[in-house]
Amino acid sequence: MNRITSQNIETFLLQNYGKSIKTASTIELYNAVSRVALGCVADKMYSNSGKKRAGYLSAEYLVGRVIYANLYNMGEIDTVRKILEEKGIDLEKFEEIEDLALGNGGLGRLAACFLDSAATCSIPLDGYGIRYRYGLFKQSLVDGFQTEGADDWQRFGDPWSIRREEDVVEIVFGDQEVKAVPYDMPIIGYGGDMVNTLRLWQSEPKVPFDFIAFNDEKYSDAVKEKNRAEDISRILYPKDDTYEGKKLRLKQQYLFSSASLQDIVRKLKRAGRSPKDIGEYYSLQLNDTHPVVAIPELIRILVEEEELSFSTALKIAEKVFAYTNHTIMPEALEKWDVKLFKAVLPKVYPYVRKINSSLKNQLKKLNIPQEELKKYSIIEDNKIFMARMAIYATHSINGVAQIHTEILKNTALPEWYKIYPQRFNNKTNGITQRRWLALANQELSSLISTKIGEGWITDLSQLKALEKLKGDEEFLHQLREVKQLKKNQLAAYIEKNEGIKIDTSFIFDVQIKRLHEYKRQLLNAFSILDTYYGIKEGRIKDFKPTVYIFGAKAAPGYFRAKGIIKLINEISRLIREDPVVNKFMQVVFISNYNVSYAEKIVPAADISEQISTAGTEASGTGNMKLMLNGALTIGTYDGANVEIVQQAGEENNYIFGARVEDIAEIEASYNPSALIEKNPRLKVVVEALIDGTLRDEGTEMFQELYDSITEGASWHKPDHYYLMLDFIDYCDTRLRANQDFKDPRLIAEKSLMNIANAGSFSSDRTIKQYAEEIWQLGNK
Ligand SMILES: *Cc1c(COP(=O)(O)O)cnc(C)c1O
Repeated sequence: MNRITSQNIETFLLQNYGKSIKTASTIELYNAVSRVALGCVADKMYSNSGKKRAGYLSAEYLVGRVIYANLYNMGEIDTVRKILEEKGIDLEKFEEIEDLALGNGGLGRLAACFLDSAATCSIPLDGYGIRYRYGLFKQSLVDGFQTEGADDWQRFGDPWSIRREEDVVEIVFGDQEVKAVPYDMPIIGYGGDMVNTLRLWQSEPKVPFDFIAFNDEKYSDAVKEKNRAEDISRILYPKDDTYEGKKLRLKQQYLFSSASLQDIVRKLKRAGRSPKDIGEYYSLQLNDTHPVVAIPELIRILVEEEELSFSTALKIAEKVFAYTNHTIMPEALEKWDVKLFKAVLPKVYPYVRKINSSLKNQLKKLNIPQEELKKYSIIEDNKIFMARMAIYATHSINGVAQIHTEILKNTALPEWYKIYPQRFNNKTNGITQRRWLALANQELSSLISTKIGEGWITDLSQLKALEKLKGDEEFLHQLREVKQLKKNQLAAYIEKNEGIKIDTSFIFDVQIKRLHEYKRQLLNAFSILDTYYGIKEGRIKDFKPTVYIFGAKAAPGYFRAKGIIKLINEISRLIREDPVVNKFMQVVFISNYNVSYAEKIVPAADISEQISTAGTEASGTGNMKLMLNGALTIGTYDGANVEIVQQAGEENNYIFGARVEDIAEIEASYNPSALIEKNPRLKVVVEALIDGTLRDEGTEMFQELYDSITEGASWHKPDHYYLMLDFIDYCDTRLRANQDFKDPRLIAEKSLMNIANAGSFSSDRTIKQYAEEIWQLGNK
């Protein structure tokens, strides 16, 4: 690998801007360092060993800031720091560079962690996705309300991407034809030996500009087709965990699915191989149902262009594809209207029908009774069920945490488990320790490395060796010092960014994740209110001062989620204005939560709030990041929380609330109003929504939240995420944790046990399991 030198950087700056390191702007410097670094690895991007590769098909990649992670993995971060320092420039300057946010939340961040892990573990895995013109919206808070702005991430260029004109493909829709243009980003493994590719497709017009229309002075007509083509990759849909049957969204899905397959088939041919052998050379993982249209598309290509029979093509698809399920919530499951699908993809629809017929035949052979066929049917009630197609026409379906996979097998998809038990498997999610420990928390990383060496950077299970330091007073003391340092740093950042001062002697209690009812930020808010009244009334004594930190974006059209943001900010005001309680409590809602913000909050957290209703959070990965950085989890038995406490010990975390089985049992007879009437503490916090204690400025947001708990709505029963059921246990558990914090040594020990047992939550472990058990790469 070539090395980055100050000479290379100076040359780039001179050639491109007529400047030097000393005179260049931050953006210019960023472009120069990035381009020079890219030049050091680009040759490796396009070297193919000829062995079987895997492809990750994902509509989202939540990458965050790329420059530090890339330089770190290349082993060049200290070199660049030195080069800049010699000119009096701080490497931290690049924090002005915005995040690459081509994803909503956990699902997109998982994709980014997997790419880092695969390249590090020498697994040939390429990512395929969409190059959105605008990433996830920027959030600001105005009077406590969320407002949204566009994320114009390409404004200052995109120095980490290479546009590959020679790999352009054509995409045919029912009402338009476009070009898909690939942009490649290097995915650099730790140590810099392996460089994989993230290939993002951008939609462009086949004809750039209608010259004749322009000549006739029809100016807007002249650019109409151009805009229509560019619309397809213009925006990332900002809905997390809900599904809407939008035409443009189907076009996005087909754009990157079809383009990626055409690309792979062409690569095979260029290498002198037959596309019918695609299964020998490629395994393709479908990240949720967003790329499932790739299944009929591959079959179409094999039948129409390679003249294979349908049944042969279907068998090939089954061998090539595997499907990851991320949610069982019905509102998130994709099903396309047949009429819409046919209009947008008339050439693909016949293959969906054929897949469905083939399924029907198969079910007959298996003697599935007539009345059960509907449950399996891919086309039913004029809808196409994408998850069903993904199970039928692939060889693997995996859940993303043990409990989630069990729910898939036994509750969500038992009919499929009955006929294809061997297809179901679990791959518990993970996170990359390079970004979430080595880069985000250099102080803790150094402390760990002085004790057990640096092996954990590529083998996180080595953290287990820290357990022997449990009784080491000096080490526990150092752990506390690091945590305090990270809290100080976060407080300084929040003061600079939000204009809010935080007392760093307070406990930092953190809930950071997308705003969604099932994640129950509202339960957290209610419990904070309960504590507020408890302190005022004298019911709660000796409370250890706590700052509650929230970070979350709500989908712009999700009225109730936005109401919860306003509510948290109102509770913040109530407490701030109370001279007695504000010595013990503070609530801070930071704005524009994203990967870079997470990198600052995660190392500073004392407490990690993971309080989703049991059975709703498939895995979670935020929980893992916080655990790895020594936060103690207050959580329900849900998603990966279950495995976290299995590993780190229930005694070192705080588990509360109803389990999946408990909820199943009481579901039918659940009556939140009866609970509210019975317990005045519930009543007080719920009534605070409507009795004038808290104000929503006439938006009726709080009334709507109140109704959602007490009455329900047309689409759900009252309190459908069981806040009232878990409320008292949650408040009690939080107080128990609060009292434990009076013994800093005890907390440091629990914290140590969490760090030492976070090894299995590395995405290195996860991606190796995919490679060995699903993709059968064997050459890792
Ligand atoms: C890790 C991460 C998430 C996922 O958090 P969960 O708590 O697992 O939902 C979402 N957004 C960002 C920016 C993240 O870094």
